[in-house]
Amino acid sequence: MSGRDSEKLQAVKGMQDLLPPDSAKWGYVEKRARATFESYGYREVRTPIVEYTPLFVRSIGETTDVVEKEMYTFTDRDERSITLRPEGTASAVRALLEHSLPAKEPVTRWYYSGPMFRHERAQRGRYRQFYQMGVETFGIAEPTIDAEQIAMLVGLFGDLGITGLDTRINSVGGPEDRPKYRAALAAYLEPFRSQLCADCQRRLDTNPLRVLDCKHENDQKIVKGAPSILDHLGEAAKAHFAGVQAALDALGVAYTIDPKMVRGLDYYTGTTFEVRASGGDLGAQNTLGGGGRYDRLVQEMGGPATPATGFAFGLERVVLTLPGEADTFEPGAEVFFASHGDAAKLYCLKQVQNLRARGFRADLEHRNVGMKAQLKRADRVGARVVVIVGEQEMAANQAVLRDMKASEQRTIEAADLVAEIKRLVR
Ligand code: AMP
Repeated sequence: MSGRDSEKLQAVKGMQDLLPPDSAKWGYVEKRARATFESYGYREVRTPIVEYTPLFVRSIGETTDVVEKEMYTFTDRDERSITLRPEGTASAVRALLEHSLPAKEPVTRWYYSGPMFRHERAQRGRYRQFYQMGVETFGIAEPTIDAEQIAMLVGLFGDLGITGLDTRINSVGGPEDRPKYRAALAAYLEPFRSQLCADCQRRLDTNPLRVLDCKHENDQKIVKGAPSILDHLGEAAKAHFAGVQAALDALGVAYTIDPKMVRGLDYYTGTTFEVRASGGDLGAQNTLGGGGRYDRLVQEMGGPATPATGFAFGLERVVLTLPGEADTFEPGAEVFFASHGDAAKLYCLKQVQNLRARGFRADLEHRNVGMKAQLKRADRVGARVVVIVGEQEMAANQAVLRDMKASEQRTIEAADLVAEIKRLVR
């Protein structure tokens, strides 16, 4: 590589590095989310980040933005078309069927976490590689599970300290309701055809429901007067949607019914939902997470009829909304050892290992620098206690213990070291 080329090294557009201390904030969200999902009985599934392309085309839908223009699709060395996953549900369904889960257990509850890829126009809150955490439930048709998932997502965001949440729910009806609504919507939109954006003029013919979530201001104005999907629901979908609302009310979850909220993926049937952040500076990218019911997908992918519900949230957007400076999420060291002389350094090296084995976050200065620089470093890593050992202390089997909070120090017997540290940091 020439010098010139190396100057230009940079991450792929729309993809970002995650460095400390921001990574600590991410880690915190991931940890809380895992704990929440596990408390509701979800177990982790990990699938590859690439799949054979037809899986996504068939499940997400040929006429969705994701499939039409956003997928990272390549021909691999076996001449097969593979795609970096743009979302998690398709892979979960594939894995469910590949491992015959429906025959083995009546209910499957999975959660996942990992990077997704969509070639979108990159901006704040919208990236080409982004991380999602999500859940899927297979085998439960009852509306209480839809409501429980919404409550779980809203509860998680609340626990994380995110305020001003706006929860929207809707029902896009079953496959038996859709054609009627599609026809009514197309009939309403047709007179506006020439005023719609170029994409929506095409969508009007291929998939008019997609016009509802067009981001263009003018299209949104036109959509305002469109017929409501809720007026076109059959009895089953209506009863289900009422059940979701009753369960949300019972759980005390606040929500708004938004008949225009259809979500960008074609596999949804019945309930759809989104949780948005009304505060913060995410602008148009303020949907933190969303999901819904997809009762037909497992069957369409070749499996047995299996009701299913799920959601995903975006880590980047949640972290951008989360209150608190990133460095306050870093645990820092509890104990830092500073030494003078080779023998003292080896002694400290051993003591630090001993403390780590007992569960303390302990560290020492490896570089041969003076005491002043070592104490400065102890301060930088946020140590609560500093242990100072020089030749004199070594000879006397002692150590100097400095309480950084109280700015006090005293000499203690080496044998009391662990007990004294424990007293100060625990
Ligand atoms: P979706 O899979 O489209 O239903 O999106 C679910 C959530 O994933 C959204 O609410 C966002 O938080 C997040 N998300 C989707 N696309 C992106 C993207 N390009 N960049 C960042 N986050 C995204």
